[in-house]
Amino acid sequence: MKIAVLPGDGIGPEIMAEAVKVLNALGEKFELEEAPVGGAGYEASGHPLPEATLQLAKEADAILFGAVGDWKYDKLERALRPEQAILGLRKHLQLFANFRPAICYPQLTGASSLKPEIVSGLDILIVRELNGDIYFGAPRGLRDAPDGLFQGAKEGFDTMRYSEPEVRRIAHVAFQAAQKRQKKLTSVDKANVLETSQLWRDTMIDVAKEYADVELSHMYVDNAAMQLVKAPKAFDVVVTGNMFGDILSDEAAMLTGSIGMLPSASLDKNNKGLYEPSHGSAPDIAGKGVANPLATILSAAMMLRYSLGKTEQADRIESAVKKVLEQGFRTGDIATADGVVVGTKEIGDAVVKAL
Ligand code: NAD
Repeated sequence: MKIAVLPGDGIGPEIMAEAVKVLNALGEKFELEEAPVGGAGYEASGHPLPEATLQLAKEADAILFGAVGDWKYDKLERALRPEQAILGLRKHLQLFANFRPAICYPQLTGASSLKPEIVSGLDILIVRELNGDIYFGAPRGLRDAPDGLFQGAKEGFDTMRYSEPEVRRIAHVAFQAAQKRQKKLTSVDKANVLETSQLWRDTMIDVAKEYADVELSHMYVDNAAMQLVKAPKAFDVVVTGNMFGDILSDEAAMLTGSIGMLPSASLDKNNKGLYEPSHGSAPDIAGKGVANPLATILSAAMMLRYSLGKTEQADRIESAVKKVLEQGFRTGDIATADGVVVGTKEIGDAVVKAL
């Protein structure tokens, strides 16, 4: 099985080294091939997603991705910025379904900014559509406003678009995910204001007819943002569009104490996927050896489960991570009164030992 290993920028190489160490400790025969991406891709060949990196990603059975981005690239034109690599990979590989679990481990309840009784035992899954919506909709651009109160003034504009088959596709993924969990699906939209959302809601209701065992409910995005901090355990699976999902999944991430604990998967229709931590490249702590690698290690576990069919090995990694937390090992971002703070490498070593 061939895995494309794309460490990226900032803390990417540090956290990836730990995930690779854990994969190598499983005793399986994986072919791991590394390639530059993001700022590292730009430095190597003048583009954030070099042709050879894209080729490797296409050939591989799965992709393990670190993180991309650094403030030093902020002045580059948008098409050359590191973040374009991830958008390019999603687009080229048709990765349209993003899974973002948010789990609050009992040992880390104290690391959450919410009261323990609100988050303890939290286990929700956000399914975000990744290929459409306002992030990709055309037309977009800068122009002189053609009408309205500020006619003639400079304006920026983007287009929110979803087609029915696009919504249907993500709806099936979300209903099937809900079937494997508590069978509760909340579809989040803004149907009281947006036509795109009305189509989204009508399509969800139609697809629901094929999943009688799943209870579907609808929530406006502003209310969902509120309910996620008020009573997050009321959710099981949440399905939403690209932009709302971007925001809500980061909010859900913080319920758990640290974005450093949260893996993610982006899948195509055949379950080939790109696996990455939910956080960014954290340039503020890069090179210091303090980044939390557990989200990347848990992303490797998701990769084994969803793309490589190695459920047992995925379970082993997840159990090892739980054990390390029970033993009291913490990185700075998840420090709790009862734990001992260690560095990136030490916590990676502890996971290998627990395996
Ligand atoms: P970020 O997620 O990189 O960092 C936010 C905060 O969380 C920082 O204080 C950081 O130190 C901390 N943090 C993040 N990951 C951590 C970890 N594993 N362990 C400990 N602490 C961690 O978000 P940002 O600061 O908004 O963005 C930084 C760069 O990352 C930007 O260039 C942004 O575009 C990029 N970014 C990339 C991705 C991606 O590669 N998929 C996602 C989001 C942001």
